[in-house]
Amino acid sequence: MVTEELNPLKICQRQIKEACEQLGLSAGVYEILKQPQQFIEVSVPVKMDDGSVKTYLGYRSQHNNALGPYKGGLRYHPDVTPDEVKALSFWMTIKCAVVNVPYGGGKGGLVVDPRELSDDEVERLSRSFMRKLAPFVGPDIDSPAPDVFTNSQVMAWLADEYCQLTGSGTGTSGMGVVTGKPINFGGSVGRTEATSRGCIVTTKEMLKKIGMSMEGATVAVQGYGNVGGYAAILAEEAGAKVVAASDVYGGIYNSDGLPTKEVWEVTAETGSLTNYDNAQSITNEELLEMDVDILIPAAIENQITSANAGNIKATVICEGANGPTTPEADEILAQSDVAVVPDILANAGGVTVSYFEWVQNNYGYYWDEEEVNERLQKIMVDAFHDVYEMSQKQKVNMRQAAYLVAVKRVADVMEVRGWV
Ligand code: GLU
Repeated sequence: MVTEELNPLKICQRQIKEACEQLGLSAGVYEILKQPQQFIEVSVPVKMDDGSVKTYLGYRSQHNNALGPYKGGLRYHPDVTPDEVKALSFWMTIKCAVVNVPYGGGKGGLVVDPRELSDDEVERLSRSFMRKLAPFVGPDIDSPAPDVFTNSQVMAWLADEYCQLTGSGTGTSGMGVVTGKPINFGGSVGRTEATSRGCIVTTKEMLKKIGMSMEGATVAVQGYGNVGGYAAILAEEAGAKVVAASDVYGGIYNSDGLPTKEVWEVTAETGSLTNYDNAQSITNEELLEMDVDILIPAAIENQITSANAGNIKATVICEGANGPTTPEADEILAQSDVAVVPDILANAGGVTVSYFEWVQNNYGYYWDEEEVNERLQKIMVDAFHDVYEMSQKQKVNMRQAAYLVAVKRVADVMEVRGWV
């Protein structure tokens, strides 16, 4: 029996290899891109509230810095593995190149369930992690950001620890070491919603291509964290009807549409959207297979696989999460004409506004929300059209096209720098 490849590292190595072959690039390009340039593994000690000491494994994968400093999130999750972190760093290289921001790809993680720790423990753990990472990161070297189960508060602790350690103060010199910081501590307005805003911008462009619009479209969102929650809110603001949403505990459905902000408040207060009353309970599996116009998987990897891809009824899938669809599922979706806005394009709004934050930190001058959102809109629309045109020209799907656009950009810079 052929078993489906679920290892994200193997998946993205294959995706990059195919793009290198299709672009007819010299063998050296794949030789460099097939693994991270550097992989850091650290043991992170932390004093727990009860006085005991625990250690947690931490990783940072620095995939490629041809285009600029390594860039990408840090996730705190019990299932973090070296291969997952490496794969996510590959995707960051590709993602930054798709939207043409001058960054390379990085990603990191701690093997921990932060929901089981007190806030003080998460703070001590984050500071301890930064003490281990400090020799390898910095505004011009590698700049982490929020990811699964990390937020602006965690970024503030990381930035503060780095600035204290390096004596960079909190002027322009050290602040760009992480992005996604709180607004009053070097953050950018618009960063929290940026990933979701980018999802909605690219989804609108895709809808135009197939003669549809957001107005009145039905939407299902898997995952109600920072990405899924704001995607739901912004979709509703754009005139769509969000009929279903889910988190790790289960899902909710209401054919009249869910009040997305109220659901967000219930989630923030109680820890799960399943505590929202005025809806029918559904499972995550049911949500993915729901008959809606737009499906936004905004949770984790490998949610749409060969097992359920044939049952997907959505017209457009906008990948808020990284790696939610397996390659086998992609082929099945292509056969049934589902239009996929792939993760490396759809969710690139987050790193785009991270780039704006870093620029503002370096400048020491801050923009207003209108300026951030206008610049984000332009970058996302341009990137969508670059990828769409490539998909038409090369007769490939949007994901393959995004790889072609990105790998070409990285390869060109590696060539001009004399690496290949
Ligand atoms: N974690 C986000 C991503 O996967 C953001 C990365 C960043 O802003 O550096 O794109």
